[in-house]
Amino acid sequence: MMNLLDSLPELEPGWVWLTGAGPGSAGLLTLLALRGITQADVIVYDALVDKAVLDMARPGVVLEYAGKRGGKPSAKQPDISLRLVQLAREGKRVLRLKGGDPFVFGRGGEEALSLVAAGVPFRVVPGISAGIGGLAYAGIPVTHRDCNSAVTFITGHDATGVVPDNVDWMSLGKGSPVIVLYMALKHIDLIAERLIQAGRSASEPVAVVAKATTAEQQVLETTLGRCGADVVAQGIEPPAIVVIGEVVRLRAALDWIGALEGKRLVADPLGRRQQTEAC
Ligand code: SAH
Repeated sequence: MMNLLDSLPELEPGWVWLTGAGPGSAGLLTLLALRGITQADVIVYDALVDKAVLDMARPGVVLEYAGKRGGKPSAKQPDISLRLVQLAREGKRVLRLKGGDPFVFGRGGEEALSLVAAGVPFRVVPGISAGIGGLAYAGIPVTHRDCNSAVTFITGHDATGVVPDNVDWMSLGKGSPVIVLYMALKHIDLIAERLIQAGRSASEPVAVVAKATTAEQQVLETTLGRCGADVVAQGIEPPAIVVIGEVVRLRAALDWIGALEGKRLVADPLGRRQQTEAC
């Protein structure tokens, strides 16, 4: 293992590694992310990065918080990019650690563009995105041959915090059998309404997975018609991923965390009838 780590690239002084930390559990870090964490002089991290992950940094590391979470004070995006440039120019080994994957609704592209403009050398270290790995921890595959051959990843709010208007909800509702929503908790009722208007059934299965992969993971199984009310009633809090589609039914068979806790799994959750009709 140590030999393998040693064969990986070094985080060099004056470089920035734009790195995904995965959805939460430290076990879901990549080896390159671990390498960067243990070599960095400065780690500029987001609110969504688990403390256990930061605890692996070397003694003397400087941890800079740059989290962006609704309602809480957060660094502005241009300030974060400028800070990365500044630290790199000071000759620091800079790890920019972001939740999930840096290029999935993570503004990694914006930060990378600033580094390019400033001539700062950088590496991108992908991470496991919450919309894939987080759902896997709830026992929900984002694709399954009997259910869907396409999946859409979408943000539930735009830069100003409202339901994105540039999304063609009608086409999305008609065209995408499985829809995975990031940052959607606040507007879940409005989004569900638009999808029902687009022809989706109010009884279509929906799962909301909060704090996925962490010890506080919480999963709500509901329907398109009820999800808005259920999220409020259950007091589900962000961060949460919402998934809409028949793949949610597979959880009855694939909730492997539930099984560890004694839940009985159903062998054929789609049923032969559903496989031909619903999927
Ligand atoms: N780059 C990240 C996404 C950042 S946007 C990634 O690839 O996963 C922030 C949103 O990600 C949150 O609002 C939530 O929808 C989702 N998210 C991130 N971590 C999560 C987690 N542990 N559990 C559930 N949702 C999570």
